[in-house]
Amino acid sequence: MLLTISTTRHPATDLGYLLQKHPDKVQTFDVPGGKAHVFYPEATEDHTTAALLLDIDPVGLVRREIRGNDFALEAYVNDRPYATSSWMSTAIAGVFTSAMNGNCRDKPDMPKEAWPFVVHIPVMSVRGGEVLLRKLFEPLGYELTAEAMPLDEKFPEWGQSRYLSVSLSATCRLQDLLTHLYVLLPVMDKDKHYYVGKPEVEKLLAKGSGWLEKHPENAFIVKRYLNNRSSLTKTVMNALLSEETVEEPGEEVVVAPENEEKIRLHELRLQTACARLQQSGATSVLDLGCGEGKLLKLLAQEKQFKRIVGMDVSIRSLEIAADKLNLKRLPEREKDRFELFQGSLTYRDSRLEGYDAAALVEVIEHVDPGRLPALERSVFGFARPRTVIITTPRADYNVKYESLADGAFRHSDHRFEWTEAEFAAWCAGVGERFGYSFETEAVGETDAAFGAPSQMAVFTRKDETKQNGNKNP
Ligand code: SAH
Repeated sequence: MLLTISTTRHPATDLGYLLQKHPDKVQTFDVPGGKAHVFYPEATEDHTTAALLLDIDPVGLVRREIRGNDFALEAYVNDRPYATSSWMSTAIAGVFTSAMNGNCRDKPDMPKEAWPFVVHIPVMSVRGGEVLLRKLFEPLGYELTAEAMPLDEKFPEWGQSRYLSVSLSATCRLQDLLTHLYVLLPVMDKDKHYYVGKPEVEKLLAKGSGWLEKHPENAFIVKRYLNNRSSLTKTVMNALLSEETVEEPGEEVVVAPENEEKIRLHELRLQTACARLQQSGATSVLDLGCGEGKLLKLLAQEKQFKRIVGMDVSIRSLEIAADKLNLKRLPEREKDRFELFQGSLTYRDSRLEGYDAAALVEVIEHVDPGRLPALERSVFGFARPRTVIITTPRADYNVKYESLADGAFRHSDHRFEWTEAEFAAWCAGVGERFGYSFETEAVGETDAAFGAPSQMAVFTRKDETKQNGNKNP
């Protein structure tokens, strides 16, 4: 199965930078279901096309797919190797990860540009036909052509198949284009190759961020994406409907401590965050983007904190956090001190209201810059704790990391890393918009020339007045 992406933006060969795949090379990747090949059938400054050819391993699929089908040969006779489906969606996410996250190592500003793109999918299985295709893509600004394919060219009287040859064009960011395909390809073809469970909720909230909540067919998209599982559909729809302007990533991310120094730095950050929370006088705290619960564990040791809540978009991280806190074995009374739940910081969430303090330790840099305003509203506008503590890498220090290429980020899921000045400017904006004062501080061992590796801001709510619909006292 094949998908091509073409552009005429000049020089069109820059598509190689955006996709982080060199136009002169053929590259092959192992992906679920088989191998993905990326190559450029044409690469000139006027017109460049990148092709993603997914070579599904039918024997491998047969081994995995045999199950109690009504049609016993279905595992052997099916359209999986040929028709674009959820396998392609998984391959896009695996092969073009940086492009989907809006990252470009060599030209960091390029992913923000809207380019003219044409995507061609020669064989797409669409249950719902051209009408459905238009309902899904046109509200997102795509123009499309769809040509139905006959069931068998030799027997036109048999009529059309459910396969379409599809072209989509739009002027948009590549990140958005890939994200739309990632979500909508499995919606088009209901036959998903993966089990639909809570992780798909995470993925959908993350990838649907910023567009799905506004899509007129969002209820249909969510339902089909989640294979009609009604409880999961409800969870996503509630999140989408809770705020019309929304959200960001969600990729399962834990700061990757490449070496001892980074581990020590993270420890220090957590201890500093814990100390500042104590000094704030808080007795109830939220750890937002709690990850595997390292900060929760520190907070648990302090009696001052009577109520400790961790939230993360990643279910797997929350499970690890629950283990770390030993929640299953704690006596009931002690257990009541804690709560862990899944949620996304860029959706307004009433469960976050009524706490004294919140910490976001190494979280904001995982959120697309375009979704930061949604995070600000959810944390500073709606949840509105008296104290908010935020830490983030300090980009001025990055030259000190020898293994880090120029302009690269410390972690592949980071959407940005701010200099001290950029962080201060963001804090000032937040303070002004939401009525908080703040102080910033350096965290980590300070280098004489490049300063500290990390930075923290402690925000304090200026008054007790209600803003933006906040229900708190
Ligand atoms: N605070 C933890 C983890 C930091 S890694 C620590 O310091 O150890 C960043 C975490 O943010 C990840 O666990 C990731 O799943 C979470 N995250 C990213 N985007 C999020 C969002 N929109 N809402 C909630 N959590 C998010």
